[in-house]
Formats: sequence, structure tokens, C-alpha cells
Amino acid sequence: MLFPAMEDPKQALRLRRTLLAIAGGAVHTCLCWVFLKWNFFRATPQEFFGMFSLFWLVHLSFPVLIISGLNKRFKDPSLTLYQMAWATICIMITVYFIYDLRMVVLMYYLLVMIFGAFRLRLKAFLIISAMAIVGYGLVIFAIVYNQVEILNLRVEYIQWLCFSVVMTTFALMGSSLSALRRKYRKQRGLLSEAMEKISHLVETDELTGLWNRRHAMSFLNRQKALADRGGYCFAICFLDLDHFKEVNDRYGHHAGDLVLQKTSQEMTRQLREIDCLARFGGEEFLAVLAQADQSAAVVVGQRLVEKVRSLEFSEGLSGLKVTLSIGIAEFIPGETVDQLLHRADQAMYRAKNLGRNQMVVAKAL
Ligand code: GH3
Ligand code: MG
Ligand code: MG
Repeated sequence: MLFPAMEDPKQALRLRRTLLAIAGGAVHTCLCWVFLKWNFFRATPQEFFGMFSLFWLVHLSFPVLIISGLNKRFKDPSLTLYQMAWATICIMITVYFIYDLRMVVLMYYLLVMIFGAFRLRLKAFLIISAMAIVGYGLVIFAIVYNQVEILNLRVEYIQWLCFSVVMTTFALMGSSLSALRRKYRKQRGLLSEAMEKISHLVETDELTGLWNRRHAMSFLNRQKALADRGGYCFAICFLDLDHFKEVNDRYGHHAGDLVLQKTSQEMTRQLREIDCLARFGGEEFLAVLAQADQSAAVVVGQRLVEKVRSLEFSEGLSGLKVTLSIGIAEFIPGETVDQLLHRADQAMYRAKNLGRNQMVVAKAL
């Protein structure tokens, strides 16, 4: 990308807002140009050109700062307060030069305040309003002091007062609008965090921390979809702890839970990140081995049998030996997930019948 800083979507949004403000500045320039042409602007075309060149020099520095990424060095990288302050100064300067139609430009100034409603907090809003109120007051004072125009001071005073009331109201309303926007953004953040947590909870097993049956099934379906397209294979291991009921009966249910946790941790260590190990029910587990054929699954199955068999348990359970029976099946393209699970389940039962503590490879369909 030509400007690396613009890859950040926040920067892109800041630039869009700034360009909108620039468009507002262009409308202001055109308005004053028309006033100049209709003799409502007390300046020569040269003076007008000089004044607006200065205005635009600063106006255009804002998008340049954003495009170059230099805006990130400011406390508020959106530069909203600075842009509004500069717009206020420009408008108040032009108000000084305009005869009779000052109110038109002041009305236009309300747009600057709306621009701030996206971002500014109350303090910043009040600073801008104060700048505008004092600025307009100074303009009236300067006109009277320099005697460039004969003013009806009572009318000017009432107009200034109304302007002050409107500006203060805008500051209060605008800041509560932007506070509302901040609150909404925070809540949206919290909501998506909660959604992430919930979706994790919905798919994990509370006791072992492994994936649960729901996740295993959707993982299996995705693997099937890949394999059915061709050029991809995967296999599953159906695992069942042997004589687990006896563990519960001898050591108690709590000890049984600890055994389930420790066995799960060990089995997780034996698998790859891309595999999925799920607790399928009670003391039954399912390992889905991504991108693995039957021979790779046999190696994994053998390793699981050995590692679980050689697990040592701490005090209270010392001497306990846990073994596994495993049924292995490689997915055959075209078969259903249920058929695959059934084949692995049958193989696991054969491993039980053959004396447990071993693995058996499933027959093809
Ligand atoms: P087999 O070798 O034939 O699989 O025998 P087994 O005793 O493992 O099988 P069985 O199906 O008879 O018993 C499974 C036991 O697993 C019974 C149940 O109490 C226990 N179990 C299931 N879920 C949990 C659990 O969450 N915690 C504990 N501690 N035990 C559980
Ligand atoms: Mg069992
Ligand atoms: Mg069982």
C-alpha cells in the first residue's frame, strides 16, 4: 500500500471524517467568495486570496498528518478538537469581514459543532463553544473599535446572547451524544467478549477442558466435507477407559474425576494442534486426526495406549493403572459420519473383547 498508516481501518475512518470537514471548509470558502462578489465581504480579492490561502494551508495539514500517520502521536489521533478550533478561528475571522450577513455564517458554524458530536467530551465541547462565544464577542468589539461599520449595538448584543445560548446547548447535547456513542461502543465490546466466552463454553467439556461432543461433531463434518472433495484423508480414534467403574468404586468418584483429567491432559500432549480431542461421554473420548491416514492413526493409537498405560498417579492413587481400548477408522469418502463412528465403535468393542489395553483397526464398510 502507498500509505502504510492507512491500512488501519481506524485511520481510514479518521481520514473520511477529516475529508468531510474539508468539504465543509470548501463550502465556507465558496460562501465567502459569493459574499465578496456581492459586496458583503469587506476585503479586496487579493486580501481574500491571502486570507483563505492561510486557512487552507492549515485545513490541508490535517489529512496530511493522518495519511502520514503522524496524528498517532497526538493524545486524540482523530485531531477533532484541533480541527474544530481551527474552523472556529477561520469562521470568526470571516465574520469580522462580512457586512449584514454575519448570522448566515454563524448558522453555518453549527455544522462545525455537529462534527464534534462524534468524538468530543464535555470539556472539549465547552472549550470550543467558549472559543466561539468569546470570538464572536471580539468580532463585535473589533468592528466597533475599528469603526469599520456602524452597528446597532442592541441588536448585536441580543444576537451574541442568543448565539451563546445556542452554543452552550449544543455543547451539552453534543457531549451527551458522544458519551452515548462511547457507552454503546463499550457495551458492544463487552457483548462480543461475552459471545466469545459463551461459544467456547458451549463447545468445551467442563471437567476435562477438552472439546465436547458438539464441537467434535462439527469438526468431523468439516473434515468429511474436505475428504469428500478428494485429495484429503483423516482418521478417528474411539477411546474408552478400561474398567473405569472399578476406579470409581475403589477410590471414589472424585478420584475418578482426577483420573479423567490427568488422562485427558496426557492424551492432549500426544496429539497435534490440528487434531481434535473431545470427551464424547463419561469415560469415552474421540480423537479426530486431521490429514492422517490409517497407518498414521495406528502410530498415534499405539502411542496413546502406551502413554496412558504408563501414567503414574500421585498420593492416594499410587499404584493405580489406567488402560485404554481404542478403535481406529480411516474415513472412506462417501460414508456418513455416523457410519464412520459406528465402525470405530465396533473396533473399540473388539479391542475390549480381545482383553482391553490395546487398539484395533476398523474393517472397511
Ligand atoms: P469397560 O472396560 O467395559 O469400558 O468398563 P467400564 O467400567 O469402563 O465401563 P462402564 O460403562 O461399565 O462404566 C463406565 C463408568 O464411568 C461408570 C461411570 O460411573 C464412570 N463415569 C462416567 N462419567 C464419569 C465422570 O464424569 N466422573 C467419574 N468419576 N466417573 C464417570
Ligand atoms: Mg470404559
Ligand atoms: Mg464406556
